[in-house]
Amino acid sequence: MQKHLLVTGAGGFIGHALVKRLKKEGHWVRGVDLKYPEYESSCADEFEILDLRRWDNCLRATRGSLDEIYNLAADMGGIGYITAFLADIARNNMLINVHMLEAARENNARRFLFSSSACVYAQNKQKASSVTPLREEDAFPADPEPGYGWEKLFSEEMCRYYWHDYKFETRIVRFHNVYGPLGTYDGGKEKAPAAICRKVALASNGDEIEVWGDGEQTRSFMYVDDCVEGLIRLMASEYRDALNLGTSELVSINQLVDFVADVAGKQIVKRHNTQGPQGVRGRNSDNSRLREVLAWEPSINLRRGLRQTYPWIENELKRVAAIRTKRAC
Ligand code: NAD
Repeated sequence: MQKHLLVTGAGGFIGHALVKRLKKEGHWVRGVDLKYPEYESSCADEFEILDLRRWDNCLRATRGSLDEIYNLAADMGGIGYITAFLADIARNNMLINVHMLEAARENNARRFLFSSSACVYAQNKQKASSVTPLREEDAFPADPEPGYGWEKLFSEEMCRYYWHDYKFETRIVRFHNVYGPLGTYDGGKEKAPAAICRKVALASNGDEIEVWGDGEQTRSFMYVDDCVEGLIRLMASEYRDALNLGTSELVSINQLVDFVADVAGKQIVKRHNTQGPQGVRGRNSDNSRLREVLAWEPSINLRRGLRQTYPWIENELKRVAAIRTKRAC
């Protein structure tokens, strides 16, 4: 059955990949964002440039009889970005989320998915590199990442309140570090895998690259195809509580650098900058509930995902350098 769908943040990394997948499945898709996708054009049936912090724009974005809304628009970036801008990120995203929820309800959308984050988890449960994987209930008592994490946690609560007061159908996904080709790799909003791929691609064999922290902080990383698959499965499910979507393959940032260097075929020396932002010491996803609810979990391991991601970033850097050289001549 063809559905009428809205993807907000469709000019961004996950939103763009989701639009491609939904179009392949034969659905009608409206994409909305502040910008078009950076690295290839969108295949959405309609693409509107709208600032979703504004109520009137949210009403416009949600018009018509939409079956499902994937709300992926957010002001976000890697650890350097989200620890630098607390007020801006919290204000921008709260405005997007409360306006989008209410506009979706007023326009009678059938289902609304909110993209939350592992940054909602209590910081005091993430103090060791060998962290116990986080279960959904570990978000409480609340002690999330300042700014971005608090905003995500409160928006999750808003989704629950909309079910409580209006029986408005909401789904809540907590992503754990998504990476892949066509993701931001420079400019300050990039996340660790893309930043490390860029640094390694720009380095020569035997060069040094800067790594934030001592590199022993740990995370899990999910390839974008798994992320899109999980999103579609969660939307189709009857599960209304927050659900982890990530891998449980815990790696340190030092290991991540080694994996990337291996894919690149380069010897890389790490220069640790202990003053650089690092976020929590350890974070991993407990996928017990994910397996229970979706009868599925992400399966693309980090080495396999990096074999797709690194060459894309390396080629992008070459393409951009070639354009600059041409302009200079
Ligand atoms: P992204 O930055 O690539 O995409 C977000 C998009 O939202 C951008 O294209 C941006 O222009 C758009 N946007 C920002 N403000 C807007 C506004 N006022 N109006 C309209 N559009 C606006 O990020 P992403 O990685 O694709 O993330 C998608 C969602 O997943 C976000 O909600 C993010 O918080 C969440 N998330 C992502 C990750 C990850 O690792 N990528 C991890 C946890 C949570």
